[in-house]
Amino acid sequence: MKGLKGKNVLVTGASSGIGQAIAIRLASEGCNIAINYRKSPDGAEDTEEMAMQKACGDVENCGVKSLLVQGDVSKEEDIISMVNTVVERFGSLDILVNNAGIQTESPSHEIETVEFDRVLTVNLRGAYLCARETIKQLLSQNRSGIIINISSVHEIIPRPMYVSYSISKGGMENMTKTLALEYANRGIRVNAVAPGATVTPINEAWTNDPEKKAIVESHIPMGRAGTSEEMAAAVAFLASDEAAYITGQTLFVDGGLTLYADFREAWS
Ligand code: NAD
Repeated sequence: MKGLKGKNVLVTGASSGIGQAIAIRLASEGCNIAINYRKSPDGAEDTEEMAMQKACGDVENCGVKSLLVQGDVSKEEDIISMVNTVVERFGSLDILVNNAGIQTESPSHEIETVEFDRVLTVNLRGAYLCARETIKQLLSQNRSGIIINISSVHEIIPRPMYVSYSISKGGMENMTKTLALEYANRGIRVNAVAPGATVTPINEAWTNDPEKKAIVESHIPMGRAGTSEEMAAAVAFLASDEAAYITGQTLFVDGGLTLYADFREAWS
């Protein structure tokens, strides 16, 4: 896609699921990719191998670079050092993809404060601090740049039993718009991709159970869950020059989930 070749990218939480697919897709578009992982590098190493295979095939040193970067996005010091490492190794950071995210299930009147804080600290504060550090770097180098936040359909659809998750993604919408407005005249575009139900490890509770999967998919107008690659395609578009005039938007990639599926048939 236009404008992606040679861009330096950081994808948080890129050792599995949607983040892994984003890193692979952007590498295949010729981006240099920094692959963030929280603890064990195992999944991140798989991401790197698949990404470099897509980018280079059997050609050695095809010009696409990769970097594994450890960092827990709930820790400010990790985020600062992660962004600095990417800039030291690649020379700049052009595209940040805030993908790392967690969810916990609990009735809203019973959720432990520490659990509530943990979800907000990873999903919202972590994404904000990564954006802040990236914007600092972009401004100091007088470069244009792109931030893409991986939100969720629960940015707008309330999700009982997951109030911290819903709040984090609702907050992400405002963060996307606020940062987009604040930095639009400095060449920094900020957008979000909001996946619907997607087959990834975060959803193992239903993806590995055919009966539960069928129930989930019965609520989706297009009749099936999405794939990580479909989410990555939307990220690649928003990161490319094809989306040069788009900022402050959330692109829902959800098979129609946000279209009020219960209205498919007339009620009376
Ligand atoms: P996933 O569990 O495979 O990916 C989440 C990634 O975030 C993992 O690699 C995990 O290690 C990483 N992570 C978690 N805490 C972290 C931390 N503190 N620091 C660094 N990394 C951390 O699940 P996924 O479905 O690929 O989720 C990716 C994003 O997509 C999340 O933000 C999630 O909310 C969002 N999303 C997913 C779905 C879905 O149906 N799968 C739907 C809507 C939104």
